[in-house]
Amino acid sequence: MDLFEYQGKQYFARFGIPVSPGGVADTVDEAVAAAEAAGYPVVVKAQVQVGGRGKAGGIKLANDADEVRLHAGNILGMDIRGHVVHRLWVEHASDIDEEYYASFTLDRAAKQHLLMLSAEGGVEIEAVAESNPDAIVKLHVNPVDGLSLEAARQAAVDAKLPERALDGAADILVKLYRCFTEGDCDLAEINPLILKPTGEVHALDAKVSLDSSAAFRHPEWEEFAATEVLDEREKLAKSKGLQYIGLDGSVGIIANGAGLAMSTLDVVNQVGGKAANFLDIGGGANADVMASALDVINHDENVRSILINIFGGITRGEEVAKGIVEALGRVQLRAPIVIRLDGTNAEEGRQILADAGIPAEQLRSEPTMLDAARAAVAIANGN
Ligand code: GDP
Ligand code: MN
Repeated sequence: MDLFEYQGKQYFARFGIPVSPGGVADTVDEAVAAAEAAGYPVVVKAQVQVGGRGKAGGIKLANDADEVRLHAGNILGMDIRGHVVHRLWVEHASDIDEEYYASFTLDRAAKQHLLMLSAEGGVEIEAVAESNPDAIVKLHVNPVDGLSLEAARQAAVDAKLPERALDGAADILVKLYRCFTEGDCDLAEINPLILKPTGEVHALDAKVSLDSSAAFRHPEWEEFAATEVLDEREKLAKSKGLQYIGLDGSVGIIANGAGLAMSTLDVVNQVGGKAANFLDIGGGANADVMASALDVINHDENVRSILINIFGGITRGEEVAKGIVEALGRVQLRAPIVIRLDGTNAEEGRQILADAGIPAEQLRSEPTMLDAARAAVAIANGN
């Protein structure tokens, strides 16, 4: 779950990371009130989950209430790379001497946490990685040992931060690491991390992505979930309790179990196709769940064929078949189905599908996952 900047800053503050005082605003009047509380000058910042807001005109400095009115009025409703601004964050403006970059992520291949630190902040880190990769210090952190203040300070030295920024930066890195680990983040990024003329180091932006698998131990995340940005397909899937991930291809995939769904995705790629999504109906899915899954897939305009891959264990073939028949009776599917049905009661399931008299151009059955993927990709690619 990705957080907005203002939520990321709230989260940072819990771990003692210094951020500027400010407030959220959904209207121009609220923006003025937030500015008065924060103290002028202020920055008015568009709250959208996309980078480069500054360049797009979504971040403006304001010295008084009139300027806040002007900028807030312009930014609210603005479209920033496909994201419409509904909310602002107004904070006390900072004086900046230098801008750095700092982030923690998980390096799965190394089985360690990864700190990335650079004295070249404020710009997209991908651009730095391309033009000047040596300017990014990468430090693996063993999760068992954690990150010591000494190691953090050394990373700041290696990244060529100036002497007067070292202590402040090291202190924030240790706190950011705690936020990343104890706070169960997939990503905790500060860009820019700034050095003020006073010598203080401070987080001017916040990009936080929370690991949804850890939500059970964070009841306080509920307020973040309330503002989570989901597309229509994701909303529908969530309301029906399905595990759904939207992708950009044209083959809609329904499988029982995340492992099988991922394998199906691989096989679709292997035979030259691209998945439009990834929908796991879980174990023991009944007819209703299957029908809901087809409903969700049907809302995806990019879907040109639907590949259903079921290897029944506790999921029973006849339930899957009943769900398909029910869905076909209820909605006009935008694309034909190719199904591979195997495992528990597969024979009964296939019989139900045959008895339903569904035309072959709407549904066909294939004996293996590979055959089914080939057929679905052929339809999606228009051959
Ligand atoms: P992003 O462009 O979406 O990543 O938004 P940021 O919050 O990182 O802000 C972009 C840039 O705006 C920063 O790199 C700063 O140069 C500038 N900026 C943001 N807040 C302030 C501020 O309080 N004071 C000053 N002087 N510049 C700011
Ligand atoms: Mn930024």
